[in-house]
Amino acid sequence: MKQKRKVVLIGTGFVGMSFAYSMLMAGDIDDLVLIDINKEKAVGEAMDLQHGLPYARRKIDIKAGNYDDCEDADIAVITAGATQKPGETRLDLTVTDTKIVKNVTSNIMKSGFHGVLIVACNPVDIMTYVAQKVSGLPPTKVIGTGTLLDTARLRFMLSEMLNISTNNIHAYIMGEHGDTSFVPWDHAFIGSKKLLEVIEKRNLSLESLNKIYEDVKNAGYEIVNRKKSTYYGIGLSLNRLVNAILNDEHTLLTISAYQNGEYGFHGLYNGVPALITREGIQEILELDLSDEDLHKFQKSCTTLKEIIDTTVNPLI
Ligand code: NAD
Repeated sequence: MKQKRKVVLIGTGFVGMSFAYSMLMAGDIDDLVLIDINKEKAVGEAMDLQHGLPYARRKIDIKAGNYDDCEDADIAVITAGATQKPGETRLDLTVTDTKIVKNVTSNIMKSGFHGVLIVACNPVDIMTYVAQKVSGLPPTKVIGTGTLLDTARLRFMLSEMLNISTNNIHAYIMGEHGDTSFVPWDHAFIGSKKLLEVIEKRNLSLESLNKIYEDVKNAGYEIVNRKKSTYYGIGLSLNRLVNAILNDEHTLLTISAYQNGEYGFHGLYNGVPALITREGIQEILELDLSDEDLHKFQKSCTTLKEIIDTTVNPLI
């Protein structure tokens, strides 16, 4: 008999429930367990999802549960956390979310959890570091959503500009899911043609690419200013990552991965394209970055490392 696929979601707020809802429509799971510090919220959300099951893609066992449910889960997803207020950066959430992620991760591990741990709460690269340190899981089994959403935004905006399907746009946002991210444009392709050549052929300016990057970087702020938080994009990004793991896809996704010296840094998480399998992160696809891009990645790592050393390590 095929083994059941079980996902436990911790944090049934906007992000968590957008992910859960997308699993009903496009997920490959059998069991979905919802946990929240606000137990009644988790119960209400489970009921609401259950009532949509007759019209969902497949039968899923959905319930509000507790941390014991993590014992035999394939994947635990942490979306518990504070949200950015207008004017706040993701890094402003560090202290509050470190305490939450520390608490949630130790509860997950007490169950005997041995699956893949995914972190989406912000600042996500730092929170993934916290989850890995507190869990003691191999770094390859702890994944942050990193620049998965930023990369989706980039592909969407390039697709709009060029009128070419997002499926044919191979371009990554690397670095922190935040203000020190960047695009290695030399490594962006439309099909198998370099994006920079396509831009030249169409008489588009390099400035239009910079504008797209700025729009991607500021997208979160623009949405927060208008509707207080962002959740559908990250919900679908989480769905993509979870399915890639459960289906052992061996696919490249830009996620926050533990750095083992690939670009000269060790011992922190940052956004890179990496190969995702049933076991988590199989390997980081190491790009031959230009000196300028390498400098940007290193700046991003230095920013994160400073916060880890000064603010996070004393708390965990
Ligand atoms: P939200 O306030 O709607 O939901 C947070 C949920 O977490 C609430 O239901 C709350 O009760 C729960 N929670 C808080 N502390 C908890 C604990 N100790 N244990 C269990 N549950 C707890 O917030 P949201 O909009 O869903 O955002 C959640 C997180 O996701 C935030 O950190 C936000 O910044 C982040 N986020 C990440 C991305 C990304 O690209 N990675 C995008 C958007 C938002």
